[in-house]
Amino acid sequence: MIVGGGVVGCAAAFFLAERGQRDVVLLERGQLGQGTSKGGLGGIRHQFDDELDVRLSKLAVAFWRAFEDRTGARHDFQQRGYLFIAETREGLEQLRAPIPLYERIGVNVEMVDREEIERLVPGIRTDDLVGGRFGAEDGYGDPVQALAGFAAFAHLAGVKIREDVAVLEIMREGDRVTGVRTSEGPISCDRVLLATGCWTASLAATAGVAVPIWAYARSIMESRPFPALSRVPMTIELESGFHFRPKGAAQRFAMPNLTGDGRVEKGPVAPPTAFVPGDFAPLVVPSSLEPWVRARAAWRHPLFADLRITDSWSCYYEMTPDDHPVVGAVPGVAGLYVAAGFSGHGFMHAPATAQLVVEEMLDGRAHTLDIGDLSLERFASGRRPFTATVL
Ligand SMILES: Cc1cc2nc3c(=O)[nH]c(=O)nc-3n(C[C@H](O)[C@H](O)[C@H](O)COP(=O)(O)OP(=O)(O)OC[C@H]3O[C@@H](n4cnc5c(N)ncnc54)[C@H](O)[C@@H]3O)c2cc1C
Repeated sequence: MIVGGGVVGCAAAFFLAERGQRDVVLLERGQLGQGTSKGGLGGIRHQFDDELDVRLSKLAVAFWRAFEDRTGARHDFQQRGYLFIAETREGLEQLRAPIPLYERIGVNVEMVDREEIERLVPGIRTDDLVGGRFGAEDGYGDPVQALAGFAAFAHLAGVKIREDVAVLEIMREGDRVTGVRTSEGPISCDRVLLATGCWTASLAATAGVAVPIWAYARSIMESRPFPALSRVPMTIELESGFHFRPKGAAQRFAMPNLTGDGRVEKGPVAPPTAFVPGDFAPLVVPSSLEPWVRARAAWRHPLFADLRITDSWSCYYEMTPDDHPVVGAVPGVAGLYVAAGFSGHGFMHAPATAQLVVEEMLDGRAHTLDIGDLSLERFASGRRPFTATVL
C-alpha cells in the first residue's frame, strides 16, 4: 500500500511494478500531483554539500536520462546544467568547498569566471560577480509530466491507483501494521509506505509515530519566454537565492521568502516547537514578492527589464530539522515505511529514493546505496549526519 500520489508515491509505484509486485494499491486523497509536486521548479542537480545527496543525484540522473526507455513515457529532461553565481568572496569560497567531493565521486562540476558565465547565459550582468560554479550534468525536468509517466507505467502493470480516497488512520496491532482506515472503509495490508509529503506527521501520528516534517511555503513566478535564453542553465544567485530557468512557453523564476522588514529568508529559521497534526493554511503569494523578483531580474539580465509576471503560485516545501528526507523502514513498527520530507529537492531525487525504499520493502534493506543516514532514527537519537542547506 502506498499512501500519497505525488511524484515520490508514483515513483515508488513504478519501482514496485517494475519489480513484478502485482498487489499494490496507491491511495491519493485528491488528484495525483495535487500536493507539492505540481508546484515545483523542476530543478535536478548534483551540487550538494553532503556525499549522500550527491550519490542520490547520480543514481537519480542516470534514471532521468533513461526515463523514456524505463517508463515508455516522455519526460522533458534537459541536461543544461546548474550555474551558481556569487557576488562575494565568502560566497565563492562556499561554492569552492565541495569541489574535492565532486572530483572524488566523479561529477562534472567546475568553478567558472565571469567570461564563462557570460558564455553560459548570454547577456547576463556580471560586473558585480566574483565568479561561479557550473555543473554540466545538472538540469531541469517537468515534475507533473514525470509523475504521469510513473503512474501510467504502474497502472498498466496492474497497480491500483485510487484518487479521492483519503487515509484517515494507519492501523496496527502491537508492533505490526495491519492496514489503513480510509474515507471508503478499512483496507488490510501488511506494508504501508507513507509518501505523503508535508502531511506525513499527522498521518504517522495515528500509528503513534513522531515524524518531524512540517510545511514551509515557497513561491514561483512566470513571465513570457525569452527565446535568447531558451537553452541556458538553471541560474542561481547564491547570496540572494533568486533563480531562473526557461520552461517551455514561459520563463520561470524562483525566489526566497521575504521577512516583514524585507530581508531574504531562504529557509525556516527553526523547526516548529510541535508538529501539529492537521492541514495547513491556504496558500497565497505574498504581495511583496513580485516587486522584489522584478527588481532582482531586471538587475541580473537586461532582457528582464520591465518584466511582466503572467502567473505565480505558492506551494509547500516539506521540511525536516536537517533539510533532508526521511526514507526507509520506521524503527519499531514492522511494515511501516516513509519516503517524505524532501525539503525542496524531492522531485530530482524521486527515482533514487523510491528505488531505495522499495529495496527496503522487498529485500529488507536498501542495497544500491546505504541510506541508513536517512532513517527516522536520527531525530530520536540526535544524530546529525548532514549539513542543513535550503536553496
Ligand atoms: C516552490 C517550490 C520549488 C521547488 N523546486 C524544486 C526543484 O527545483 N527540484 C526538486 O527536486 N524539488 C523541488 N521542490 C520540491 C518538490 O516539489 C517536492 O519535494 C516533491 O514534489 C515532493 O513530492 P512528494 O511526492 O513527497 O509530496 P507531494 O507532492 O506533496 O505528494 C504527497 C501527496 O500525498 C497526498 N496525501 C497526503 N495525506 C494523505 C492522506 N492522508 N491520504 C491520501 N493521500 C494523502 C497529498 O494529497 C499529496 O498529493 C520544490 C518545491 C516548491 C514548493
